[in-house]
Amino acid sequence: MDSYPQIQAAPPAFDLCGGHPALDFVNTLDDRFDEAPLELLPDYSALLRFAEQTKLVDPGQVRLLTKSVQPNAAARAVRSARELREALATAFYDNLEGRPIPAAAMRTLERHLLAADQHRELRWQGATARNGQPGMQWQWGRFAKEADLPVWILAGQASQLMLSDAMQRVRACGADTCRWLFLDTSKNHTRRWCNMKVCGNRMKARRFQARRGMSASS
Ligand SMILES: [Zn+2]
Repeated sequence: MDSYPQIQAAPPAFDLCGGHPALDFVNTLDDRFDEAPLELLPDYSALLRFAEQTKLVDPGQVRLLTKSVQPNAAARAVRSARELREALATAFYDNLEGRPIPAAAMRTLERHLLAADQHRELRWQGATARNGQPGMQWQWGRFAKEADLPVWILAGQASQLMLSDAMQRVRACGADTCRWLFLDTSKNHTRRWCNMKVCGNRMKARRFQARRGMSASS
């Protein structure tokens, strides 16, 4: 029997080269320093897809949210996600440039981080994921059906990164046309590109063209 894999017209996968979900999240406004940035989170289903691909939610949670969230709440959650994302972008890029982070961005981040903490239930577990022993655990509980769940999860991820030493290892891609964020975990902290296959090569190609241009004009 001839059988070929079915090719589905799925939306393109997110390029998760940032090394941390909070940085991949900031990168979902592509070409952010261009005149016309490209919004990779145009709607709630894109937000859910992003959360699933970064493994912040599992397919079961995505199905539950897709079924239970009303359109108005979904639209609000997308606006909230973008607000969080832009405050994060301000914090990371200003820190990179050595600028103080503006008070407005700090307050926005504070509000999102507090909201993430306030929408959880403290549960007693017979066996925690931590060590298999009985213990306390924070769970989403009744909030697992709320439209804002992916926003709270992303805020939690961002909090973890920003309140750790790793904050100072966040870098922006060396390609001027890209500037995507990534976590530099290289031994000597010398990583330059968000994605070697995309930007590393793009710069090489450009240098090659520049050389050709020079030799042609000489
Ligand atoms: Zn790049």
